[in-house]
Order: sequence, then structure tokens, then C-alpha cells
Amino acid sequence: MWGPHYESLPVRWRVELEIEFLTAWRVGSGEEGETTDLGILLDPDGRPVLPGSSIKGVFRSCCERLAGSLGMSACLLDRGLSGVDCWNGFAHEEFRSHRESVSKGKPGAVEFRRRLERKTCHVCRFFGTTMMGGRVALSDGRLVAESWAEVVERRDGVVIDRDEGTARDGLKYDYDVAPAGMTFASSLEWIDYPNAKDPETAAQTRRERAMLAAALFQWLDGFALGGFTSRGLGRAELRVKSVETVDLGNAEQVREFLVRRQWEKVEDWEERWQDWIETQFDAALAGASTTA
Ligand SMILES: [Zn+2]
Repeated sequence: MWGPHYESLPVRWRVELEIEFLTAWRVGSGEEGETTDLGILLDPDGRPVLPGSSIKGVFRSCCERLAGSLGMSACLLDRGLSGVDCWNGFAHEEFRSHRESVSKGKPGAVEFRRRLERKTCHVCRFFGTTMMGGRVALSDGRLVAESWAEVVERRDGVVIDRDEGTARDGLKYDYDVAPAGMTFASSLEWIDYPNAKDPETAAQTRRERAMLAAALFQWLDGFALGGFTSRGLGRAELRVKSVETVDLGNAEQVREFLVRRQWEKVEDWEERWQDWIETQFDAALAGASTTA
């Protein structure tokens, strides 16, 4: 999943998270439940599942909302809506002609990678597109066993007539929800290139760190995850259990990492994250004043 190497070695990060649901929540299975119309995803033992892809999707949306105020571009995966031209689609005409010129031996893989990045929005560069691997991963939720009450709840809903804005007679349905209190552990991992010689790569690292830190700070104030959040489902609380890093350009850290699987603990992560956000704000403001 990690992208190709730049001119410098990356830094790896791992944040251990705990997500506790304060309300009932659901990640739909796309099928009927055992006794309801809309089931939820369950593991083979019948316990609700929280996929990493669900967490990542909501995390990405949170990052997209913050991007503008951090001086970052975000295509929102919709060029028409955002007005940001981003090569997030595999069928992009210009991309195809670039790829053809690379296969003919010019402009070369590194230059091609650079061009691709220049044509990809700041958020997609981090999360990845169909043409460019992402550099961030969120693991599937690991259920904290004692938080599971061993019961899936059932809720009733009514089908709303979109034209009338009223409930349609007789069109009731029910759906499964997982109970409040369920808690999952998940790992957020990413790599970045703070020591890159290429100024654009170093700038992108500065942006990404600010975006990640701001999004996680926002989640620490509470967030919503899963389906039917507009009906009050999926309110969740985040706890940061640990932050660790390995600088793959630092021989001492690499040695500890390879021999003992030892990461460097980051105790002052809150201060560091605040610093990441401030640094990017200053850079974005300086950039805005020079282009104005
Ligand atoms: Zn994009």
C-alpha cells in the first residue's frame, strides 16, 4: 500500500486508538437481519463488526472538511462539486497520455510520479487514488470483549414520502443496531517524508501532519460513525492510547525496530500535534499573502 520511495527515507507513525460508542450504532450488512429488514455486519460468533474501511471513510470526510482552513486542496472525489481538478479517476484522459509517454521511456518514473502528484489534490495524495497508493491505514476494530452485552437490538423505522414529507401508511420497516457501550481498539498507521529534499514532498508532509492532528483533535471532542447518524445513531468517543514512531532514516531507531520491534514512544504527542497545526497555519497564511 505504501507509495514508491522519494529521495529520503520515510518516518512511520502508529497511533493506538480506542473508540467507544455512546449510543447504539450500525454498520449495515446490506442484507436482511435475522428478524429485521436491515441487518448489521456480524462476525462468525454473532458479534457486531467495525471494519477499518468504515472508520477510514469517516476519517477522510473529517480531513476533507478541515482541508480548506489548513490551506489544502480537496477534490471531495467530485470535481464538479469541489471545482478541484484531481486525477482520482482511472479514466482521466490526460493521465492516459502521460502514462503512454512514460512507457515510451520519457519522462521517466520519478518525473511521472511528480506530475501525478501535482495533478492530485492534497487529500487524495495522502489517502490514495486508483492511480496512486495511499500512505495511511486504519485497522479493523478489535472488540474490547467486556464491552459486549451479547445482544443486537431492533429498531423501527417508517418510510417517509419525499414529496409529502409524511410517513406513508403501512410502510414500516425495522433494522438491527449494535448496543451503546461497545468499545473497539484500532491502529492508525501512516508514513511521511519530513526529511525530503524535494520541497514539495516536505511541504506535503507538513500539510498531512496538520490535517491528521486537527482531525484527531476534532474526534477527541466526539464524532459519529456508521449508518443512520442523522437519526442519532453512532455517537462515539475517541481515546488516544499511544503514539509511536520510527524514523527509517535514523540508524539507531531502525536497529531497535528491526531487532526488537521497538517503536519510539511519543509522550508529548499533544504538544507535537498542536505544533504541526500551527506550523501549517503559518505556512498557509504566508503563502496566501504572497499570492494575494
Ligand atoms: Zn482528490
